[in-house]
Amino acid sequence: MLKYYNYDIVFQEIPDEVTLAVNLTGCPVHCPGCHSPHLWKDIGEPLDEAALRTMQALYPGEVTCIALMGGDADSAAVERLCAFIQRELGLRSSWWSGRDELPEGIDLAHFDYIKTGPYIAELGGLKSRRTNQRLYRVDHPSGGSGPVLQDITNRFWR
Ligand code: SF4
Repeated sequence: MLKYYNYDIVFQEIPDEVTLAVNLTGCPVHCPGCHSPHLWKDIGEPLDEAALRTMQALYPGEVTCIALMGGDADSAAVERLCAFIQRELGLRSSWWSGRDELPEGIDLAHFDYIKTGPYIAELGGLKSRRTNQRLYRVDHPSGGSGPVLQDITNRFWR
């Protein structure tokens, strides 16, 4: 089960979006130098469809995207909730994974943005040109050719 510590509106995490960022707990990645080690603990409130609907209702008309920050311990639940965000809340969905590789079998159709990569202090976060992390926009072309990942990490470097 996914749990969250807190949430907030953010403007810089995803270019061109007003994002409701939900910080998930139980992070299994354990990056040295992690900015939020309290998120390693199994604490917080359960995150499910009803909780997301309640959060969205607090910001009527303001939010264009919901980002699930973390959740690598239960990627199936992340995918299910991202599908819900798109289908039932009518918003773009984003997942911030701490892993380099996406889980096998993940259906990109349920995502509009995906960030990958652990935090490595000497390389820096997304705003660093040396970063190992990547932010992808998931394009959904019409015509049945399937979702396509577009690396938009350089949007943080302008
Ligand atoms: S993935 Fe994020 S929350 Fe998890 S240890 Fe790394 S920096 Fe911290």
